[in-house]
Amino acid sequence: MSLFQFQNIFTDSLPGDPQEDNYPRQVHTGFYSKVEPRHPSAPVLLIHSEDVARLLNLGEEDVLSDAFLDVVSGKGVLPGSVPYAMCYGGHQFGHWAGQLGDGRAINLGEISTIEGMQTIQLKGAGLTPYSRTADGLAVLRSSIREFLCSEAMHHLHIPTTRALSLVLTGDEVLRDMLYDGHPAYEKGAVLSRVAPSFIRFGSFEIWAARKDEVKLKQLLDYTIAHHYPELVGTEACYLKLFEAVAIKTCDMVVDWQRVGFVHGVMNTDNMSILGQTIDYGPYGWLDNYDPNWTPNTTDMPGRRYRFGNQPIIAQWNLLQLANALYPLIQDLEALKSIIEGFSGQYIEKYTAMMRVKLGLMTAMESDKTLIKNIEQVLHLCNVDYTIFFRLLAKITKDMPISEMKSLLEPAFYEDEWLPEKEQLLEDVLMAYQKRIALEDTTDSLRQQQMNEVNPKYVLRNYMSQLAIEAADLGDYGLLHELFTLLKRPYEEQPQYERWFAKRPDWALEKVGCSMLSCSS
Ligand code: AMP
Ligand code: MG
Repeated sequence: MSLFQFQNIFTDSLPGDPQEDNYPRQVHTGFYSKVEPRHPSAPVLLIHSEDVARLLNLGEEDVLSDAFLDVVSGKGVLPGSVPYAMCYGGHQFGHWAGQLGDGRAINLGEISTIEGMQTIQLKGAGLTPYSRTADGLAVLRSSIREFLCSEAMHHLHIPTTRALSLVLTGDEVLRDMLYDGHPAYEKGAVLSRVAPSFIRFGSFEIWAARKDEVKLKQLLDYTIAHHYPELVGTEACYLKLFEAVAIKTCDMVVDWQRVGFVHGVMNTDNMSILGQTIDYGPYGWLDNYDPNWTPNTTDMPGRRYRFGNQPIIAQWNLLQLANALYPLIQDLEALKSIIEGFSGQYIEKYTAMMRVKLGLMTAMESDKTLIKNIEQVLHLCNVDYTIFFRLLAKITKDMPISEMKSLLEPAFYEDEWLPEKEQLLEDVLMAYQKRIALEDTTDSLRQQQMNEVNPKYVLRNYMSQLAIEAADLGDYGLLHELFTLLKRPYEEQPQYERWFAKRPDWALEKVGCSMLSCSS
């Protein structure tokens, strides 16, 4: 029996590009182009997710087979699989960019699983009609980052595409990592990733921009039939779809803010119609709490995709989706009210999330001020976001202030404090302690609840960079260690205590740790 029982639901349901030659072009006639993955010269499987393999009905022996390596490296295409690259457009950094599409992603087809239909996609498996002037390839560096982060996000209980495997291709790829005129060869890789669908906001925008309402409707009907089946046949189902996407997107961003994740490239082509985190490029994790921080060097001038701006950008992206769907919805007021309502809903959900982060199970009007004050102090006093919340859980209702401060010390990036800052910190800690005293719960129960939402271990940028540097030298130990660590981010893992630490000083200015470009 074949390793994967592929179905071709997307390609069987929707028209494709009749032109089968593989060269960069505008594709006006179909939703996808059939394309064969590139043959790697010497593929080697570096790591895989047992979890995702199991979801796809694969046993451990399947994953270790040559047949598996063939499929996930692009070396072989299984009978029944019809590989294709999808056509989509998008707004990049606030501007309409026209057709983008899967320039280096190739879908192999769908598999039926206990979690519904899942699409398997190879990232970095060669040129497609959407590659524009690029090469369709991916390097080990960025593939490690996507592998580790997408799995880490899943285990943090945040909606995300998953990673099945990471393969070295044996080929070299030329990249100008900092876009500064110094290209160098890097190891090529292919990541296989998995999601119910890779349809993006930009998948709709492209047909709206081309004023092709027939295609727009076809894709909407497909999306509803396969991914929002509860809406099939209901009144105003396109509007309802938009509303559902807005809710999922809002929830996803609240989750990002909870753990300090900065996506880095929230272009509309990187927004999943399923509200999953997708396309891990120059993303980053907050070390010290700084709402202005963006990990993406390309984003530096305007900091459009900075941590604190993610909700506003999500709303802006939804506005672009609404514009695209308008011809089929035609209800301006209803769309406007969903988009305008996004801000209020976000604040409500964000506040509720922060309450849980703080271990507050009841809601009080004054909590919003407390939350704002804590955020201000974290920013002003240069405090580590992850460590602070994890240690905050250990504060008790009757702990003296000096003890609270020394308990939190591992989260501080500064050794010496201006007296005004120290006062602010003390004030906010005392206010917090007063507030938890009003809760009808024990210190230990609160700690337990807080630890379920405040991760102990996140994928700090310097951590992936260390794993990348070792992997470049052929040592995959750290890659595996971090993968193991991040599968249980909320649990104490004493053997990995060294990863519960602030960003080291050396990482502050280092490429890959504090600065990342889109080059991947
Ligand atoms: P991203 O910013 O990674 O979401 O990519 C934006 C667009 O560029 C998408 O259409 C990608 O498919 C395409 N792209 C990115 N990197 C490459 C590459 N190495 N080769 C071909 N297309 C690429
Ligand atoms: Mg993308």
